[in-house]
Amino acid sequence: MKKTCIRLLCCAVTLCLLLSAVPFAIAAEKKSDCGTDCPYYPTIIVPGLGQSSVVVTDDSGTPITDKDGNKVTAFPAWIQTDKLINSLLGPALLSLFTQRDMGLSDAFADAIEDAFGINKCDENAKPVGNVLTEKFPYPYSEYSEYDKSIVNMHIPFELYPTDLPRDHLYYFEYNSFGNHIDLANELYDFIQLVKAQTGHDKVNLVPLSQGASIVSAMLDYTPAVMDELHKIMFVVPALDGSWIIGDVFNDAITFTDSDYLYHGFLENIRLLDQSTAGLIELVARLFPDEVLMAALQKGVQKLVQNVMIYSTGMWALCPTAAYPSAAQRYLSSPEMASIKAQTDRYYQAQLHHKDNIRKLQEKGVQVFCVAEYDISLINVGTHWNDQNADFIIQLDSTSMGATSANVGETLPDDYKQQNTCCSNPAHNHISPDRVIDASTGLLADTTFYFKNQRHDLTQHNDVILKLAMQLIANDDIKDVYSSPDFPQFNYGRNVKNLLTLLDEAEGVNRKLLTKGQKKRLDAAVENAQTVLSKTVDGPNAVPDAEAQLHKALVLCGKEKATLTTPDVFTPVSDFLYRHYGSNGYSEYPRETAKKGIDALVSFFGAVAGR
Ligand SMILES: [Zn+2]
Ligand SMILES: [Zn+2]
Repeated sequence: MKKTCIRLLCCAVTLCLLLSAVPFAIAAEKKSDCGTDCPYYPTIIVPGLGQSSVVVTDDSGTPITDKDGNKVTAFPAWIQTDKLINSLLGPALLSLFTQRDMGLSDAFADAIEDAFGINKCDENAKPVGNVLTEKFPYPYSEYSEYDKSIVNMHIPFELYPTDLPRDHLYYFEYNSFGNHIDLANELYDFIQLVKAQTGHDKVNLVPLSQGASIVSAMLDYTPAVMDELHKIMFVVPALDGSWIIGDVFNDAITFTDSDYLYHGFLENIRLLDQSTAGLIELVARLFPDEVLMAALQKGVQKLVQNVMIYSTGMWALCPTAAYPSAAQRYLSSPEMASIKAQTDRYYQAQLHHKDNIRKLQEKGVQVFCVAEYDISLINVGTHWNDQNADFIIQLDSTSMGATSANVGETLPDDYKQQNTCCSNPAHNHISPDRVIDASTGLLADTTFYFKNQRHDLTQHNDVILKLAMQLIANDDIKDVYSSPDFPQFNYGRNVKNLLTLLDEAEGVNRKLLTKGQKKRLDAAVENAQTVLSKTVDGPNAVPDAEAQLHKALVLCGKEKATLTTPDVFTPVSDFLYRHYGSNGYSEYPRETAKKGIDALVSFFGAVAGR
């Protein structure tokens, strides 16, 4: 029950809110001794949603710790297991045995509000919960082991060398649910801090995902900053928000429909974690539809109405096309006037983001972008399959207007490259798979596309990381034609498992292997290293190398025979859906129900008897 509650809570809402930012004392002391002829530019990473350390504190502002001594994080919610069980277990058991809503939906909604409530903001969109954003107002070269662990969890700098000196590398921590105008001002202040510490008059910015909304706001509110920038590398930027948030703010949620919940929503969630989705399904079926749906509807309602609409950080993720109706729905009361004034201001910045980027270019600032495509949005909202996306953000937003066919489709046979944003007729901006026309994206010549790359796994794509490390170190790459290592169109990949397997292979004592084992292992290691050394390769290069290395390790007795843990829940769940649709167990035909309930009674009897 414990795990189930947490999983239900975590998965019911994949979107959330966070808290306040403690202003860093500006430490203007110069930290690097590079002179006026320094060839580098200090670089500030502006991470994405939840990629900063925001921790829960006590009333005195001291971070609280869990039983292992780790700070308790507030993103996306503050899950207090014991409290959850206390509030949910009674109503859940009552509802289970009576097959009626015995307070479960209200208890569930309260639990959601309680967990996410740590990230609440007031009527001026200022965070009010006990949270602290841990700031790093000094370069990476001065990071403690703890600082490094926080940053590398999100962006693995330690794995990817860059020529940029570590005393020129900075990471801007912020609260994803914080006040968006404050965040833009804090970023501006951080740039001043970096300039003072390095003695440079210009910096590079690398905004990822939500971080791009903060950069976009800053460019609009404080245009003078444009003269303080040398280069921006946007990585899957939320420049025109995400339709996931657009749908949430327009009450266009899919999973509060029971049929869709089982046969659609959870299916897509399986992309994230198949086994958890299957388990959620099985547990959800313990309750009749009306109980489950009431719980989900009330939970979503509380999360949106009591937490999310007070966060201007979240509003900044609403697409321009979704904003007017959402603002009408949630921000038209006098109580919300201050928040609406702030979100209206950002809406204007969002409408002008392309103009602002053009201004940057006119000032000589180099602007690059990485966009990912051919994975539908996670199907939280009704617009999930309207256009091409990277699972989290639609391509139109991350590519600043590239034309694309939808996922699984191609541009029409007679489609001609539009060249809206490219003036060189010799350029071919149509992707080899004929899904993308990059010539209509604002940065037609400096946007790199990765097919089948999931947004939330971007940090495991070694090619994107290598591209970033080169772009921040020097100006050798001018556009997508500068280096054959980094073409405009490439494949997504995830090298996390491959790196883990390689580590394991390195640890194998070769002296204990037979000649045959050693040969296989060495060949697999060599192949893996070759794959990792290339930035242009086939779409299956990484999975193939992984499989070969895994097989070799199994042969050496070092690995389990399967790459992934077997998923027992999904087949059962599929069977239930095929035979019974979306019904809860109690609504199944009598015989099945009887067997199911007998099984449950003996299960709970066994638990109680333990
Ligand atoms: Zn320098
Ligand atoms: Zn071009």
